[in-house]
Amino acid sequence: MSISLYNSIPKIDAHLHLNTNRYTLAEIALMNDFRILTINTEVPFFPELNKQQSLAADSPTKFSERIDFITSFTTENWGKFGWQDKAIEQIEHGLNRGAVGVKIWKNIGMELTDREGNYIMADHPSFAPIYSFLAENNIPLLAHLGEPRNCWLPVSEMTVTSDAEYFSGHPQYHMYLHPEFPSYKEQLKARDRLLADHPNLKFIGAHLASLEWSVDEIAKWLDQHPNSGVDLAERVCHLQHQASGEPKKVKEFIMAYQDRIIYGSDQIDDGSLPENNLKATLQEKWLNEFLFFSEHNVQTAWNVEKPFLGLGLKETVLKKIFHDNALSYYPQLRS
Ligand SMILES: [Zn+2]
Repeated sequence: MSISLYNSIPKIDAHLHLNTNRYTLAEIALMNDFRILTINTEVPFFPELNKQQSLAADSPTKFSERIDFITSFTTENWGKFGWQDKAIEQIEHGLNRGAVGVKIWKNIGMELTDREGNYIMADHPSFAPIYSFLAENNIPLLAHLGEPRNCWLPVSEMTVTSDAEYFSGHPQYHMYLHPEFPSYKEQLKARDRLLADHPNLKFIGAHLASLEWSVDEIAKWLDQHPNSGVDLAERVCHLQHQASGEPKKVKEFIMAYQDRIIYGSDQIDDGSLPENNLKATLQEKWLNEFLFFSEHNVQTAWNVEKPFLGLGLKETVLKKIFHDNALSYYPQLRS
């Protein structure tokens, strides 16, 4: 029953990364009645921001209706005189090309430092003109700040096996091993101070606002920040993990915040996966994650240790999470 529902409702994947000039993601989207929002991000191993932007903005006509993008700005010249003006210019250029919002990334808080080696946090006064520009112009800011809480825990205490595998394989990113970096709490506090300083900013906390480990914590944060929403990119497994113990609580959370949760897969296409492989991976992810929200049966996922109960949400709620909320948080998607 739910598979036919999956096939019959229009959907938006509001967080993925189109980083190559093949359009396989758009083809899969076409087959599955998805629109896709590619998030331009200042990641060292991604193509340059300009390149990421033009992959979306200059996509072939056949796909242009299906692909939207969120722009970003470089922090390369951070601290140099007038760098904020250049950043705002870069944002304006992105908006003129059709961007529906602006992204900031965890390099703010976890990588960028001043000359003395102090980490530059998201609420650093140097960013204020940029946030003010966004707030004044009603431009949504999507922020991936901090990391999942697992990143600061020993591997044995991590809640999902995908995190345990990733951080075991990438000890350089495993913050539990690097106490010299600002802590999990410091990352979130800086983010919340930035929101306090810019109460009119429309803000989307990527990856369940890095509070993925507890629906209670996400709920508290959403209550404190009425202008904010969250996206689910690559964090559905954390809801599944919680649904293996307390499915009712997870369902109540989704019902209570059904207008503020935006679906996204965080799928990256950098050309490295063979097309068929990418197709199978993304289609399976989309469908399985949809079925977690739509079905009310016992399910499993490769990265969640125990079986969990699907949430069995009604069609009206599914439509919000998989479609309508993206339009309400990124209104430019409508045009
Ligand atoms: Zn992402």
